Amino acid sequence: MDQTLHTETLCIQAGYHPGNGEPRQIPIVQSTTFKYATSEEMGKLFDLEADGYFYSRLANPTCDAVAAKIAALEGGTAAMLTGSGQAANFYAMFNIASCGDHIVASSSIYGGTYNLLSVTMKRMGVEVTFVDPDCSEEALNAAFRPNTKLLFGETIANPALTVLDIEKFAHAAHAHGVPLIVDNTFATPVNCRPFQWGADIVTHSTTKYMDGHASAIGGCIVDSGKFDWTAHPDKFPGLCTPDESYHGITYTQRFGLAGAFITKCTAQLMRDLGSVQSPQSAYYLNLGLESLPFRMRQHCTNAQTIAEYLQGNEKVAWVKFCGLEGDKYHALAQKYMPGGSCGVISFGLKGSRQAAEVFMKHLKLGSIETHVADSRTCCLHPASSTHRQMSDAELEAAGVGADLIRLSCGLENAQDLIADLEQAIAQV
Ligand SMILES: *Cc1c(COP(=O)(O)O)cnc(C)c1O
Repeated sequence: MDQTLHTETLCIQAGYHPGNGEPRQIPIVQSTTFKYATSEEMGKLFDLEADGYFYSRLANPTCDAVAAKIAALEGGTAAMLTGSGQAANFYAMFNIASCGDHIVASSSIYGGTYNLLSVTMKRMGVEVTFVDPDCSEEALNAAFRPNTKLLFGETIANPALTVLDIEKFAHAAHAHGVPLIVDNTFATPVNCRPFQWGADIVTHSTTKYMDGHASAIGGCIVDSGKFDWTAHPDKFPGLCTPDESYHGITYTQRFGLAGAFITKCTAQLMRDLGSVQSPQSAYYLNLGLESLPFRMRQHCTNAQTIAEYLQGNEKVAWVKFCGLEGDKYHALAQKYMPGGSCGVISFGLKGSRQAAEVFMKHLKLGSIETHVADSRTCCLHPASSTHRQMSDAELEAAGVGADLIRLSCGLENAQDLIADLEQAIAQV
């Protein structure tokens, strides 16, 4: 697809181009398997000599069309859908880092990804070093080892709301001959396209804004096609030497830099681990993508209006949102996301934990959920729900103070949301 087209156009048109008499909307190809007239024809697919479908764990037309749309939105060369954001991050990292290897990751990342690295991938023999994303370039460089295979961070971290200095991270990764993988879930390609700033691979939990209606769990991996694996064949043998489990193919030779990473990820990891996104979920995801730019605008302006309101309320102790001028990450957000960041804010009330509990109890429009990035406003007080087993001191150390309230601003009218917040805060 013409990559000079604007985001709004790509969200509607990219990925699916029906011919005469074919369905206008992406058909849900709810079929596990595909029929062929001869074994020879099917054999060509297995040898990767012909394009086509044979089994939906490896490829499905609905999922492929939606992945192609997300690739176009990010400005990448290839993409694949996964069953969840967790699967996307695991596959993206495990595709190039395995037993005996090392990963450097920002310490300010989604809790699920933190556990994936520090618990499950550790058990698989992959070591991780976490770095403060705000550290100096020297400190970042010092975290790399000879067996480091990638650097990982989140554009806007969930839930800490730190903004990643993507150029600083890309520079450090490339100086050590490894790619930068960025989880772009919160910003979405509407607000930030990490490839423009040097990232090599982008991941998404499509469960969040891309779907946007809390209807389907999903993930996506996009490759920029820019990282030259063949410049470091010793670091990336999986991409640069023959895969005996897949017809002796050398992925970089056969598919070039544009296709090697995603083809290997599909042919090996999806084949063996199988976290596919269902065609039905991909269809819901596509409906979400069609309106993504318009929804993101509303999420962001609502968050800005509400953050400013909270800042002016005398019962509010602090507000964290990179759209606010005094915020620690305002300058980075202006650089990487001049058009808006996301709809998630965090804040604390004077009176800490007790005040938060009273406030939460009285919300009428905002609902209590562990979810974020939904069309409906949702709110969470981690200290009394997801993190309730932790003491106040442990919460402080984890960067989730006992008073922290996370507010994901939905698509409702901002004045209605403010009236709801105001009456709930008044009860405190
Ligand atoms: C939610 C989330 C994930 C995990 O995605 P699931 O779809 O829930 O598996 C990963 N990264 C970020 C930034 C997230 O917000």
